[in-house]
Amino acid sequence: MRALTGERLNSEETFIAHPDGKMIVALMSSAPLRVHPIQGAPKEIAIVFQDITVQKTLEQHKNEFFSVINHELRTPLTIIQGYAEMLRLHAEQDELFDPFITTAVTNITEQSDQLCRLIEDMLNISRIEHAQFVMQCAPHNLLHTIIHVVENQAAISKRTIALELDGLQKTDKLMANFDEERIIQVLHNLINNAIKYSSPDKHIDVCVCYTPMRKQSVLIQVKDQGIGIAESELPHIFKRFHRAHQLAASISGFGIGLYLAKEIIVRHGGHIWVESKEGVGSTFSIEFPLDTQ
Ligand code: ADP
Repeated sequence: MRALTGERLNSEETFIAHPDGKMIVALMSSAPLRVHPIQGAPKEIAIVFQDITVQKTLEQHKNEFFSVINHELRTPLTIIQGYAEMLRLHAEQDELFDPFITTAVTNITEQSDQLCRLIEDMLNISRIEHAQFVMQCAPHNLLHTIIHVVENQAAISKRTIALELDGLQKTDKLMANFDEERIIQVLHNLINNAIKYSSPDKHIDVCVCYTPMRKQSVLIQVKDQGIGIAESELPHIFKRFHRAHQLAASISGFGIGLYLAKEIIVRHGGHIWVESKEGVGSTFSIEFPLDTQ
């Protein structure tokens, strides 16, 4: 096997030419084995090449699949949403309108919105893959955005989602430079997971902590009392397409929400992490930079 110089995909993945002439994708990992006792420089290094061609091919198929479903699903969905909106307006104007129709229209709108978000998440995966994931940042009141998402999610899910403010009033401003649509998507994903992975009788808390100690940033936490995450899964849950192994088949998902959340938060200069205990619950935390001028 001969490594081709300069043919790097990124710092870990490399193209390698197999003796039969085929190119394979390899994951290259290295670690120093012995270090010079005085200079501290490595004297021996172990380098391991792992053939990940099959995984990369599968990933490529998934991305192609995403772009096809985007085109095939988006158009009919836009039409469904348009008709649902027209029906809603019609229902508001017609006094004799059947309340069942209003409920049905609300459900159609909510479910098609959910589908739109899923398509958008899938598209974002391809955009990241092709380095086309661009942020449209502008100054916004982050507290206003958080309150909006919490109230919206509580209304849609009919779950109790408590908003806890530490060092803040609801009317305060937390100015930050961010892509509002994408931050809404992150908050939405975290709250939606808290709803999905906990039983309806358990409450969910969204905490926003702004103490004088952390003038440059704010801490946002989404806490649930749900199924929790096994310790062995914790290092993997922000990875693309990863879903915990112990999950019941009835809980649907694609394993892309947290991956996207991390990409978005890191691209804003923030951090995201999780603390969780199986059977007790999970807390997802975001440290988000604020505009300090
Ligand atoms: P999805 O929920 O669609 O599977 P995510 O990327 O949002 O994808 O989450 C990845 C995985 O992390 C989930 O499949 C689940 O195993 C775990 N997870 C995420 N949020 C929670 C939570 N609040 N409680 C328990 N497990 C969670």
